[in-house]
Amino acid sequence: MRYIWMLLAAVLSGPVVAQGYLVKGLSQFSASEQAMLRAWLDSGEAAMHRLLGPLPFVTHIHLYPRRGAEPVPWAHTWKGARKSLHLYVDTDFGANDFTHDWTLYHEWSHLALPYLGEQHRWWAEGFASYMQYHLMEQVGVLRGSAEGQLQRRWRQYQHYFHSNEPLGVQAQSLIQQGQYPPAYWAGAQYFIRVQQRLPHKDLMSLVAKYTREHYNAAHGLKNVLEILDRLAGKPVFSNTYRQMTEG
Ligand SMILES: [Zn+2]
Repeated sequence: MRYIWMLLAAVLSGPVVAQGYLVKGLSQFSASEQAMLRAWLDSGEAAMHRLLGPLPFVTHIHLYPRRGAEPVPWAHTWKGARKSLHLYVDTDFGANDFTHDWTLYHEWSHLALPYLGEQHRWWAEGFASYMQYHLMEQVGVLRGSAEGQLQRRWRQYQHYFHSNEPLGVQAQSLIQQGQYPPAYWAGAQYFIRVQQRLPHKDLMSLVAKYTREHYNAAHGLKNVLEILDRLAGKPVFSNTYRQMTEG
């Protein structure tokens, strides 16, 4: 019922035709686990809504039981005609563990931008890593600011980057070697640099405008960067990309 009301509100409020999420797989969990998982997804969706506004698509969430060392031992997204999150969850963990876990925020962030291909993965992962902390800030589970946490992560992994190659090139190589954390936090540096070059604009607001109004218009990273440049009023996205990949 809640979903229907949200859908109706979105239809009445303008060009965005749908929002919200649908969840599959809940029946594999007990009633109390279902309530916990629902509350967790609801708070994630509320944070998405506060950061990006109504999304132009419904998020299809698939839940699977899985035992592991953390609340969400495995997850991935699918950005075909249906935008989906696939979350493998260990309900031995409690509500508080789920709310503080980064995975849901990271995976949902991936849906804000289209799939851009394996060769640009450092950039896409950098974006999801950047946005996940902004979502966690919205939920109220981050100690300090999102920017502060991102810089702390970067300092933790900076020692991986010692060649003279541009940071984006090194990050992409690390992904190919399976060294994900340093690559992700290096990728997030791209967005920190763009934000620093837009002192009077909020990067997440530009992304929100992109997601709501241009989601299906762009094909390929170059095109996405051009649209973001237009929204920013200067070619800061394309220029920063060039600097981080061509030196
Ligand atoms: Zn990711």
